[in-house]
Order: sequence, then C-alpha cells, then structure tokens
Amino acid sequence: MRKLEGLSASPGIAVAPVFCFREEKTAAIPKYRIDSADIETQWKRFQTALEQSREEILLLKDDRNKFQSEILEAHLMMLSDPEFIPQIHADLKSKKLNVENILKNKIDETTAVLRASGDTYLAERAVDIEDAFGRVMNHLLQDGTAKTAVDSIDRFVPPGTILAAKNLKPSEALALKDAEIAGILLEEGGATSHVAILARTWRIPAVMGLRGILGLLSDGMEIVLDADDGLVIIDPPADVLSFYRSRSDAKRKKDTGEKTGSGPKRKKLPAVTTDGAAISLRANIALADEVRDAKEKGAEGVGLFRSEYLFLGSDVLPDEETQFAVYREVVKNLDGYPAVIRTLDAGADKMLHEQAVLEEKNPLLGWRAIRYSIDHRDMFSAQLRALLRASNYGDLRIMFPMISNMEELDIVLEIFEDVKASCVKNRIPFNKNVKTGIMIEVPSAATCADLFAKKVDFMSIGTNDLIQYTMAVDRENPKVAYLYDYYNPAVLRLIKRTITAGKRSGVEVSMCGEMAGDPGAVFLLIGMGLRTFSMAPVFISAVRDLIRKVSVEEAAELAEAAMEMSAAREIKKLIQGKIKSYE
Ligand code: PEP
Ligand code: MG
Repeated sequence: MRKLEGLSASPGIAVAPVFCFREEKTAAIPKYRIDSADIETQWKRFQTALEQSREEILLLKDDRNKFQSEILEAHLMMLSDPEFIPQIHADLKSKKLNVENILKNKIDETTAVLRASGDTYLAERAVDIEDAFGRVMNHLLQDGTAKTAVDSIDRFVPPGTILAAKNLKPSEALALKDAEIAGILLEEGGATSHVAILARTWRIPAVMGLRGILGLLSDGMEIVLDADDGLVIIDPPADVLSFYRSRSDAKRKKDTGEKTGSGPKRKKLPAVTTDGAAISLRANIALADEVRDAKEKGAEGVGLFRSEYLFLGSDVLPDEETQFAVYREVVKNLDGYPAVIRTLDAGADKMLHEQAVLEEKNPLLGWRAIRYSIDHRDMFSAQLRALLRASNYGDLRIMFPMISNMEELDIVLEIFEDVKASCVKNRIPFNKNVKTGIMIEVPSAATCADLFAKKVDFMSIGTNDLIQYTMAVDRENPKVAYLYDYYNPAVLRLIKRTITAGKRSGVEVSMCGEMAGDPGAVFLLIGMGLRTFSMAPVFISAVRDLIRKVSVEEAAELAEAAMEMSAAREIKKLIQGKIKSYE
C-alpha cells in the first residue's frame, strides 16, 4: 500500500479504477515506412480526409454567424492551399512514411515558422492551420467525425473511473461535466484553480498537487481517492478498500438523497445571525443551467457568473445573440434575485486561441481579463450589448474583472456609455439603471478601493487572485501552496480596506472568491463588516448553518483579535477554537 498526500480540491471519496490521461493518448500519430507502391494509396487517403473535412466545414458554416463563417472560410482555403497540399504528395514520395506522419511534420514545420515570425497576425494563423488540418488528421486517424482538442478528453475517459492527469485546462474540464467520472487527481493544480472550482460545482471528488503520481499508476488499477483528506491510496489492502467503499457508499446515498429530494429534506432557514443580521448568500456559477442547483441550495441570486466558460467551450467566440440568450436565461430563472455577470475573464489558465499562441512568459501578469477585452472593443461591445439587452428581464448587474487602475476603469465605463448610447439610438430596450461593479482581485485595486468606490455601484472581492497577486504565489503551484492563505494578515488588511471603502461610499461590497465558501472565514468576515457572500452552491448550507449560530458582536470581537495577529497560522487557530465552542 502506498499513501500520497495532495491538496483537497473538491470533497468526496471514490474507490474506482484509475484512467491515466497522458497527452500522447490524444497525440499518438502512427509512424511507419511505406513502399513506393503505397504512395498513391496514402495520397488517396489524404484526399478523402481532405474532402470529408471540407464537407464538414461547409455544414458547420451554414449555421454560424458572420465572424465564425469567416474563420471557417479561411480554413476551407487552407485545405486547398496550392503549396501545402502538393508538398504532402512530394513528401510521401521522398520520405516514404505514412501520410499521418507526413502531415504532422508539415503542420509542425509550417506553424513553427509562423510562430517564430514575431508577428501576432501570422502567429494566429498557426492556430488556424492546426485547426483546419487537425480536422484532416482526425479523419485520417479515426475515419470518423472530427473532434477538437477542446472536447476530446471526455471521449477517452471511461465512465466510472478516476481520471489521473498531469494537469487539465478549464476547457478540458468543461468537457468532463457529463462524463460520469468518479474522481480527478492531478499532479499539478491548486485548490482555487478553475478545474478545482468546476469539480466542486459538479461534486466530483478531486485531489491535486500529487507530483509524480502518474509514474506510479497504470490504467485499470483500483485506487482510493479520499478527497476529504487530500489522500490517494495505491494498492490498498482489502480492509482499507472495504473501509473506503462503505464510506463512499454512505456519502453517495446522502448526496443522492439531497439531489433527488428523497432524503430528509431540510427547510431552508434564512441566513441570519443570532442577533438578527441578515446575510445574503449567492452562488458562483460557470454555466447557465447551474442556476437550478443554486436555487435548490437556497442561493439568493448569483454573485458571480464566469461568462468566459461560454467562450472557452468552443473554437469560435459566441456572437451577441448566443450570449443574450444565455444571460437572459440566467436572469429570468433567478426570480428577481440579482445575477452578477462578469465580463470575459480570458487569459492565464483560461486562454482563448489568440492568447495561447502568444506564449507569454507570465500569462498571470499578462494579457488577461479586462486588458484583453479593452483591446477587442468589438467583441467587448457585443458582450456589453448582450448584457444590456438581458438586463431588461431582471436584476442583472455587470462586473468587470481584473481592474488594476483608474484609467482602465475609465476606458471601460466610456465603452459602456457608448454601447448604451447605441442601444438608445437603435431603440433596443434595456434597464437604464443597470448596476456596474468591479472585482477587487488585484492589490492595486484593493489599495485604492476608496477611489474606485466613487465610480461603481458595487465591488466584489476575488480572493483567489487577490491572494495570488498579494503573496506573489501562483494559485496553481503546489510547491508554494503553503504561502497561499487567505488568513495572511496582508490579505486580510486589503480585504478590510475594501470593506471600509465600500461602507464610507455606500457601495455594496461582497466576496466571490473561494474564501467566501469557508464557514470559519465567513465568521471572521462578518466581523470585518461583510454581509454578502457568493460561493459554489455546494458550500451554501455549511456557511448558512454557521451564520445561524453566531452573532455579529462575537464576529466583531473575533475580527478585532485576528487583525492584531501577525501570522495566518495563529488566526486560523483562533477561528477554529471559536467555532469548536459552538459544536
Ligand atoms: C477570484 O479571483 O477570486 C475570482 C472569483 O475569480 P476567478 O477565480 O474566476 O479568477
Ligand atoms: Mg479572479
């Protein structure tokens, strides 16, 4: 038996066979020699695959908008390129290797030249070449329908298995939503990575930061994933297996009871402290259909809708109509409660193609979120227009991510005013009093929260990034995860500063970072003056239970004591001790 410790990213227990997702599984391109007699057969295969790809693109093109159609049109032209295509035939003759191998080398060679050009436009074309000829490659490899890199993972992972991988992109994780896997374990990643956030939302047990574990696993091995304690057990003896099996069964029964409503259904009591302060609990969601779960868990609205998942799930950006339909669905389903929709936060681990090709040295400090949106004014305006149109159907609020200085906010508000003016001009109805706010997730914004508060209707503290940027620690790097702590006094001071700035200006301050899902932290934050929290729906009931046990007065005393302390460890101990006294 071997026990490995990692970071618990999403609670739960799974006992199941493991499936190792190694990149070469998707990238395996056969390589073999061919005879001169086979050259024409291979060439014919290539031409058939080319034809299938063209037909497929034409079909896709039919129901896309203008922008998407232009991209597909460009792909069609690439598939008839007068230099690229004949070169495949020439290479077949000179190298005498199978056509998949020839194609792969040709794609690599061409894209490397484009990427090395230093020209963003050309570098972006490299992605188009990979996309267009990736389709051809898929036909060659499978003689089936094309699949994109984005959605491929769910085709590999057998249902009921624990998926083990080095890391996953949020777009890959998105494809796992309905894959019915038993759990996830990753060599990299952190508890506030977006993959962890999605796993929690979908109740998939997950442990991350298990360096080197792939080397110890092989497909089909039965392992234990104890994500409650951040453990993985390889080669478990029979008694350990049966212990965990019974624990996971008991847990599953409880969860299913909750989900289907067949279990003991508890009436949702309001989140009110013992001295009568009403606390608002909202939900963080990534997809529109998660509103149902949020409501079931008693959320009073959505405090963070990460709109970028709409953009990540496919190869093409969604147009205004598509976005409008999604935002309207969210806001309509919330029965008058607020829907805080964040504009695109692309970049860092959630890259769009254009960002990926740049290969920035420090993407976390780079062309991300609002910086990217400002540089894509048309796309940004389309998103704002879709949001404004949806604002007519309920209490929709618009939130801008990663604001780091006032000039940036001024530009954003100017664009917003322009979009509003064009809606008025075109008689497009929208809520004229729609609220706008910003994420406070960069230390510079927290430091100047008093200045920002003068220009916005609300501020929402994003601790996931705020900790990362305050502590200079990558939120996904398990090596430095010990530094990533919301109880660090520096982080708490920035939070306090933001809350005070909001109070002084009469601007609502809430929190939508993962800290808001920890009952102990919420206890402290109530004492610091916060009254609105947004979290993954799964955490709502535990947070609510704690709130109903404590008073604002006790919370304020706790906060006062905590703010005097100089180490996260002491603060955590203080809070844990206090919470124990309520059990
Ligand atoms: C945050 O940074 O706290 C946040 C909520 O945004 P995200 O996790 O999507 O970066
Ligand atoms: Mg963030």
